[in-house]
Amino acid sequence: MDTFSHAFWGRGLFGYRGHPWVALFWGAAPDLFSFGLLLLVRTLTLQFRLDVGPPPLETIPWWVFINYDISHSFISAFTVIGIVSRFRKDIAFAMLGWPFHIVLDFPFHTRAFFPTKIVWPLSDFTVDGISWASPEVWFPNLAGLLILCFYRYRKR
Ligand SMILES: [Zn+2]
Repeated sequence: MDTFSHAFWGRGLFGYRGHPWVALFWGAAPDLFSFGLLLLVRTLTLQFRLDVGPPPLETIPWWVFINYDISHSFISAFTVIGIVSRFRKDIAFAMLGWPFHIVLDFPFHTRAFFPTKIVWPLSDFTVDGISWASPEVWFPNLAGLLILCFYRYRKR
């Protein structure tokens, strides 16, 4: 899914018990740790480019793939959240947007562009999903977000 959708899913699902900004951040964190860092590095080195559609894989540095695997694995997510929950249960709850991000990316990435290895490094298992950018995924995603937003608004 696109990074903004991830952020809003995190905020909507796990940001209602306080810490809405923490939930927003952790919903997007896996992409910030991979593609966000790439954007930052390219901006700082004046190599900023805006790709229409996914950038060609050969233009993406090797470390982005490793960062993607680390940040898009339930193993890393639940290890970190488990540690945080020992000290701050409230913050750990707001961080659950991280594993939810992985839940969304797993079926909605194709093998051609950053397939999601949900239990990396134990296994490289992936599925050849439907791209989140295709209309049959993206519009239901938008509808789901709007329904969640409306639900949270009504609950307040
Ligand atoms: Zn992602």
